[in-house]
Amino acid sequence: MRDTLVLNASFEPLSTVTLNRAVVLVLQDKAVVEQEHPRLRMRAAAVELPVPRVIRLCRYVRVPFRRQAPWSRRGVLVRDRHRCAYCGRRATTVDHVVPRAQGGGDNWLNTVASCAEDNHRKADRTPEQAGMPLLYEPFIPSPADAMLLALAGRDRAALPDWLSSAAA
Ligand SMILES: [Zn+2]
Repeated sequence: MRDTLVLNASFEPLSTVTLNRAVVLVLQDKAVVEQEHPRLRMRAAAVELPVPRVIRLCRYVRVPFRRQAPWSRRGVLVRDRHRCAYCGRRATTVDHVVPRAQGGGDNWLNTVASCAEDNHRKADRTPEQAGMPLLYEPFIPSPADAMLLALAGRDRAALPDWLSSAAA
C-alpha cells in the first residue's frame, strides 16, 4: 500500500508515513484526512474509513526536519518499540552498546533498548565481551520516525500504545 503524506497543522509537507501509521494518527485525533483515495475504503471492525492519501496534523509540531532527531533515552525505547536488543522481551532501560566506561557515547548508534536484567548482566562490557549478541543493529531514526517522536513528545502518557500500534 502506498505511503501517506503528512502535512503539519500549517499545511507544510512534513514526511510520509505508512498507511497504518496514518490511520492510527487519525483515529487518535492527532491528524485529519485532507485527501482520500477516491475509490478505496478500508474496514476495521465496525468502522469504515476513507483510505488517507494526505493527512494533516491537528497541532503544529516542530520537527528537526532534515536533521537528525535529538537523542534521548525515551526516543531509544520508542525507536526499538520497547523490545530488548538482547532477548526481545519488554525493555524499560537503555543500554550503551559500547559502555560509557569504555568511551561509548549517548547517541543513536551506540544505544539500544534493554530489559533491566540484561542491562545489569552486560554491565560495563561490549556485546562481544559479554557474549550477548545484538538481535538488531541500532539505527538513526528516519525523518518520519523523528516526526512521530516529536508528536509523541506532546502527549507522553499516550505514547507507547499508539506508537507501538502504529508501528505494527
Ligand atoms: Zn533482555
